Amino acid sequence: MTSTRYDGDTWDVASSVGATATMAAAARAIATRADRRLIDDPFAEPLVRAVGVDLLTQVAAGEVPPDDLVEQIFIDVAKIRTKFYDEFFVDATNAGIRQAVILASGLDSRAYRLPWPTGTVVYELDQPRVVEFKTRTLAELGAAPTADRRVAAVDLRDDWPTALRTAGFDPARPTAWSAEGLLGYLPPDAQDRLLDVITELSSPGSRLATESRPNPRPGDEDKTKARLNRISERWRAQNFDPDMARLRYYGERNEAAPYLTGLGWALTEITVRDLLAANDLPPLTDDDIRMGDLLYVTGTLDKE
Ligand code: SAM
Repeated sequence: MTSTRYDGDTWDVASSVGATATMAAAARAIATRADRRLIDDPFAEPLVRAVGVDLLTQVAAGEVPPDDLVEQIFIDVAKIRTKFYDEFFVDATNAGIRQAVILASGLDSRAYRLPWPTGTVVYELDQPRVVEFKTRTLAELGAAPTADRRVAAVDLRDDWPTALRTAGFDPARPTAWSAEGLLGYLPPDAQDRLLDVITELSSPGSRLATESRPNPRPGDEDKTKARLNRISERWRAQNFDPDMARLRYYGERNEAAPYLTGLGWALTEITVRDLLAANDLPPLTDDDIRMGDLLYVTGTLDKE
C-alpha cells in the first residue's frame, strides 16, 4: 500500500490530512467532557459540528460511544498532548516570550482560550482552507481571540517563512514555536527544512515544542498501517472514509529530537508512556504501534 500523498496536494477540514485536524478536535471534545482536570477546550465540539461530517459530529457530541470508533488511548493522548502544549505556551509567556507560532494549527483553539499576556502575538499557519474555516467559524460562534492572532494561510512544504514575515513575524524577538501532530504528514526532507528554518528564524531564548517519533524497526510500519486500516474500516462502515494509513509518509527520516539537538536546541524529552503515568492515566496495553515510545519534546535555543 502506498501513500495517497503528492507534492502540492491540498485539502479542507473534511478531506485528506485536513480530516485529521477534525478528528483531533473530536478527540479533544470527548476528552474535555471526560476530564476537565487535564483539558478544557470549549471550542472543539462546535468546530467539529461546523465541519459538517455527521459521524464526527456525533462522536464529538458524545452521541456515539467513543470505544466503538475512537479507542480510549487516543482520547487519553488527546488529554496529555493538549495539556503538554498548553503548559509549554503558558511557561513560555511566563518567561517573557510574547511571540508564538503555531505550525499546522488545524482546529486547535489555543489562540482563543489560553491566557496570553497583553501584547502577545500568536501566528497560526496551516493550509488556506483550514485556516479560513477556523477563522470564519469561530467568528460566527462569537469567539474572540485572547491574543493578537494573525494567520498565514500557507503550505508548510512551501515558502512559509515569507508568509509568516508578511503577517508581521519579527525574527529578532524570541519566539515560542509548536508543531503538534504535524511531522509525520511531512515528507522527510520537508521536516528537516521546517526544523532548519524554525532555527534560523529563532532569536536567542526562543522555545519549541514538538513530537519526535523513533525510526521504525523492521515490521513496525506494517503494524502501524494495519492498525490504522482497522480504525479506518470502522469509520468507513459508518460512511466516513479518512483512509488514515495513506496520509502519512513512511520510511526512515531524521528523528526530530536528535536533529534539533544538532541544530543547537537544548531539549527536554518525555515519552507518551511517562506522560500517561505522570497524569494518572492508565498505561498502554498491547502497544503494537509503539505509541508509548513517541517523545514529546520541548527545547530552548541559546545561540549567540
Ligand atoms: N495541530 C493541530 C492539532 O493538534 O489539533 C492539527 C493536527 S492534524 C493531525 C495535522 C494538521 O497538519 C492539519 O491541520 C493539516 O492541515 C496540517 N498540515 C499537514 N501538512 C501540512 C502542510 N504541508 N502544510 C500546512 N499544513 C499542514
